[in-house]
Amino acid sequence: MTEAIARPQTFESLNPATGDVVGTHPIQTEDEVRAAVARARDEALWWSALGYAQRKEHLNAWKTAITQRLPELAELVHREMGKPVPDAVLEAGLAVDHIAWAAGHAKKVLGRRRVPSGMLMVNQAATVEYKPLGVVGVIGPWNYPVFTPMGSIAYALAAGNAVVFKPSEFTPGVGAWLVQVFQDVVGRPVLQLVTGLGETGNALCRSGVDKLAFTGSTATGKKVMAACAETLTPVVIEAGGKDSVIVDADADVTAAADAALWGACSNAGQTCIGVERVYVHEKVYDEFVSTITAKARGLEASADGKVGPITMPKQLDLIRSHVDDALARGGRAVVGGADAVGDRFVQPTILVDVPEDSLAVQEETFGPTMTIAKVRDMEEAIALTNATRYGLGNTVFSKRNGMAIAARVRSGMSAVNGVISFAGVPSLPFGGVGESGFGRIHGPDGLREFTYPKAIARQRFKPMVNVTTFDRTEKAEKQFTQVLGLLHGRGKKR
Ligand code: NAD
Repeated sequence: MTEAIARPQTFESLNPATGDVVGTHPIQTEDEVRAAVARARDEALWWSALGYAQRKEHLNAWKTAITQRLPELAELVHREMGKPVPDAVLEAGLAVDHIAWAAGHAKKVLGRRRVPSGMLMVNQAATVEYKPLGVVGVIGPWNYPVFTPMGSIAYALAAGNAVVFKPSEFTPGVGAWLVQVFQDVVGRPVLQLVTGLGETGNALCRSGVDKLAFTGSTATGKKVMAACAETLTPVVIEAGGKDSVIVDADADVTAAADAALWGACSNAGQTCIGVERVYVHEKVYDEFVSTITAKARGLEASADGKVGPITMPKQLDLIRSHVDDALARGGRAVVGGADAVGDRFVQPTILVDVPEDSLAVQEETFGPTMTIAKVRDMEEAIALTNATRYGLGNTVFSKRNGMAIAARVRSGMSAVNGVISFAGVPSLPFGGVGESGFGRIHGPDGLREFTYPKAIARQRFKPMVNVTTFDRTEKAEKQFTQVLGLLHGRGKKR
C-alpha cells in the first residue's frame, strides 16, 4: 500500500536579510478561497448598501488606525521584505494618502450624474452612475506590500465592492496586518485575507470573483489572465517594467543623477517603476556619469543601510546573469560589477557601453543596477526608451522640453524633473501599456476600474417625432431625415 504524500498546509515568510522566520501562514485551498468569496458576497451587499458617506467614514477610520500604528507596520515590512524602516514609512504613508483620496472622491467620480442627451433625444433625461461589481479579488506582489495592493484594495472598497486579498507568499504578514486592522475598525470582513502560494492565487482567479486585480510579474500576469478567461472574469494587470530616465542637454545634471540613483537603487532596485536604463544627451553625458558615479560609491547595500537585501533569493541569479551578459558583450561597470551580487545583497552597479539588445537593457532586472547610454539627441533617447515591450513609467530631466519629451514616451506614466512622483499623486491613474499590463489603479480611472457604468435614459416628454414605433408615419420618417440633415448634413457637397 502506498502512503499518500501529505501536502504542506502552511508556509513560512523569512527575513531576507537574515533568513530568520518572520511568520507561519496557512496555504489555503480552493475550497477555502471559494468560502471566502462566498462570505464576501454577503459583505458586498451590506457594504454597497451603506452608501458613499458611511463607507468614507469606515475607510477614514481604517486610514487613521494605520497611520497611528505606522511604526509597527513599517517594522513588519522591514522584517518581512527587507527595505529600510524609513522607506517602509514612506511607502505606507503614500498608501494611506490613497485610501483618503479614494474614500473622499468616490461619490463625485462614481455617483449618478446628468449627461447631455443630444438634439435628437432632447426629450430624454440621461444619467450615468458607476456601480460596484460585487467581489474583487486582489493578488499582490512583495516589493511594495502595502502601497501596491492598496492601489486596488482602497479603490475597489471605496467604489462599494468587497475584497478578497491574496498577498505575496513573501509578505503574508503585512497583508494579514492590513486586513486585521480593517476588520478591527469596521467590525465586518468586507476585506478578507487568503494566504498561500501561486496555487492559492490561481484558485482566486477561478473562484467566481467579479474582477481580479493582479500586480506582479508579466509572466504570472499571463497565467492569471488565462485562468480568468475560463470564467470570463475581467482582469487588471499591473506587471513589470523597464523604465528609463532621459537626460536632456539643458537638464539639471546633479538633480538628474540624484534621481536616477535613487530611482534605480532604493528598495534595492525592486521597484516596478524603478530606473533601469538612463539615456543622456552627449553634451552632458560625461558630467552625468561622473556625478552619479561619485554619488553611488558612497552607497552600500547592508542589513541596516539605505539599500536593503534582495527579497527573493532566486532573483540574485537573474541579476547576476544580466550583469554578466552586459560585461561579456562589451559593457563596463563604473560602479559595482560582476562581484556586486552576493548571497543576500547586491551592491549598486552602474553599467555603461552596454549594447541595446542585451539582457540588462531589454529585460526587467529588478536589482540596484542601471545602464547608462549616450545619445545624440532627444529623438534618439525617445526611440531607445520606446524600443521595449514594456511601457510602465519613465522620467525626463529637461528645463525646456520636459513635457514634449514625456508626451512622446510610450508609457502609462512619466515624471518630469522628479522621479516616480506620479505614484504619489492620488488623482493620477497608475498603470502601463504593452507587457506592463493594462487597466488602471489610482485616481478617477482607478475608481471606475472596479465598477460598471449604469446608463439610464428617462423620457421627460413625448417626442415631437416618434420613430421607435410600428405606428411610425411617413411624415415622421421625413421629419427625422430633415432634422438629421440640419444637424449633420450641412456643408460642402461631397
Ligand atoms: P509574481 O508574479 O511572482 O507574484 C505576484 C503574485 O502572484 C504573488 O502573490 C503570487 O503568489 C501570485 N501568483 C503566482 N503564480 C500565480 C498563478 N499561477 N495564479 C495566480 N497568482 C499567482 O511577482 P512578484 O515577484 O511578487 O512581484 C514582482 C513583479 O511585480 C515585478 O515584475 C514588478 O515589476 C511587478 N510589479 C508591478 C507593479 C505595477 O504596478 N505595475 C507594482 C509592483 C510590482
